[in-house]
Amino acid sequence: MPNTTAPVLVTGATGFLAAEIIKQLLAADYRVRGTTRDVAGSEADGQLASLPGADQRLEMLEADLLDPGAFDAAVVGCEYVMHTASPFFLDAEDPQHDLIDPAVEGTRSVLESVSKAGGVRRVVLTSSFAAMSGAPKEETWNEDDWNDVSSLDSGPYAYSKTMAERAAWDFMDDDDRSFDLVVINPTGIIGPSIVPRLNASHSLFVSATNGETPGIIDLHFPMVDVRDVARAHIMAMENPEAAGRYLCSAGTRSMRQNIELLKEAGFGDRYKLPSLPLDNALGNVLVRLVSRTQPKGIRDFISRSLGHTYELDTSKIRTELGLEFRDVDQSVIDTMTSLENWGHLGKKIEVVPAPSRL
Ligand code: NAP
Repeated sequence: MPNTTAPVLVTGATGFLAAEIIKQLLAADYRVRGTTRDVAGSEADGQLASLPGADQRLEMLEADLLDPGAFDAAVVGCEYVMHTASPFFLDAEDPQHDLIDPAVEGTRSVLESVSKAGGVRRVVLTSSFAAMSGAPKEETWNEDDWNDVSSLDSGPYAYSKTMAERAAWDFMDDDDRSFDLVVINPTGIIGPSIVPRLNASHSLFVSATNGETPGIIDLHFPMVDVRDVARAHIMAMENPEAAGRYLCSAGTRSMRQNIELLKEAGFGDRYKLPSLPLDNALGNVLVRLVSRTQPKGIRDFISRSLGHTYELDTSKIRTELGLEFRDVDQSVIDTMTSLENWGHLGKKIEVVPAPSRL
């Protein structure tokens, strides 16, 4: 039974994660109000409208993170708001304009609209593990960690998520707010996509099938399935005791583990998967050299992450919210199956231009 008859607002509704949240909210009989910058485009796309229950209980409104007051109308009459909208790409030409401003100003804008409207009880904010970790470390990561490494010049996406989450907590400090804030910090989100658009976290999987990545590199990826991240948002909304940040991750796999899994599942028969063994000391030297020719976002990522793995403590989300994660290996297979069904595998990645390049 839904715990509100009011619509639940989901910002960034056409996104990979938000679409799954909307699907699960509709399946649980909630009414949903989604925002996008392009209602006509989302209607033409049709994926959200075809979700079971959407014809009766989903309405879409237009709102841009950079337009002051854009969410004023959207929050009216809502008791719960899920703020997922944020630009997600690693390689921005103008990071301040393309990443930081929409992430930070957009988060403030949503919270200001919520504050003005008065009826909202809780905002669930999608932050990221990137707001906790800018570079690997030996110790285990948990909710006390903050990314104090990334900057406008180095890891600007991670910086945008860190600054946006900090802005949200600062906003809540300001005075007696009539609502509370709960934050979900997912690691790399994988799993099947309801929407056809290729997500930044999926591009790594595509580049393993289109010949762009010939070698197996010494990289490790903490990952979580989109269906679990969506469930975490709904649990955080429904559980009155939920509070603070929640690190959300199912497990870490090396690139080699992923490639071997994909071979076993038969993807190697249909696509040329990376095979050159570069996950060794000599390989690391070569990869560092070659990464110098890559865009800065990718270069930074490789230089910080190569040869490191991640230990994550996810006990808070499992004990307080009761979230059980699905098996990471199955999520990897489901990701590839979904990408194959949408026709992405084996193709050159069409990079969606950042706003400054449009
Ligand atoms: P996504 O598919 O790119 O969706 C992001 C959404 O944000 C888009 O649908 C877009 O909506 C909206 N958006 C971007 N710029 C906007 C602007 N200026 N004004 C209004 N809306 C804007 O990304 P996602 O993977 O679902 O990410 C959802 C959230 O999860 C983000 O906050 C992201 O940082 C976070 N996250 C993602 C991952 C991951 O691996 N995917 C991991 C950790 C955290 P429209 O284009 O329809 O306007």
